Amino acid sequence: MRKVRTHDVESYMGPASVKRPLAGELGTESLAINYFELEPGESFAFGYHSHADQEEVFYVVEGTAVFETGAIENPAGDDGAKAGGDAPTGDDTTAGDTAASDRAAANGGETADDGEAAGDGEAANGADIGVERVTVGAGEAVRFAPGEYQQGRNESGERVVALALGAPKDAGETDIRRECVSCSEFTSQEIDMTDNRDALVTRCVACDTETGRFG
Ligand SMILES: [Zn+2]
Repeated sequence: MRKVRTHDVESYMGPASVKRPLAGELGTESLAINYFELEPGESFAFGYHSHADQEEVFYVVEGTAVFETGAIENPAGDDGAKAGGDAPTGDDTTAGDTAASDRAAANGGETADDGEAAGDGEAANGADIGVERVTVGAGEAVRFAPGEYQQGRNESGERVVALALGAPKDAGETDIRRECVSCSEFTSQEIDMTDNRDALVTRCVACDTETGRFG
């Protein structure tokens, strides 16, 4: 038996102001578990991403998170990075309409203002790529399959507290997509630490342009 007090675990630097990895302290063998706190405008992840081998569940404890998913069917293919252009393969057109209207609402002043306030890479990170949006409130959970692309954000004005559970613990290959202004599309990204170790930087794999900075 091992017990951990969440707030005793050091937070990682990244797109969320608080990300405490609990797996190490708990000694979990097959489960990754991270405690998150997202201020308005922040994200769980560095970009729209998938884990090849790991399913993920997000349980929202407090506040409301919005997840985007879908759009990228074949990450290795030429069409992989097309941003929201292709229709989802599902036949539920109602869901598509809902997603479109939700997105229009979210693109009102609040999201843009949050992007400005957050500065750095958050504006680019807030660009839409997924075709389906799902709102997950306190007491609700959402699950993503291995290989499924997703990104969760706090688009509200209140803090989000959530737990992220991933199994198996080793996520396998992770592909992160962000909008690259040089390539004019969503491209695969790598993450580097700055030389003075005060921030993490996302860079386009294709052209090395910096697409975001998280300190
Ligand atoms: Zn690029």
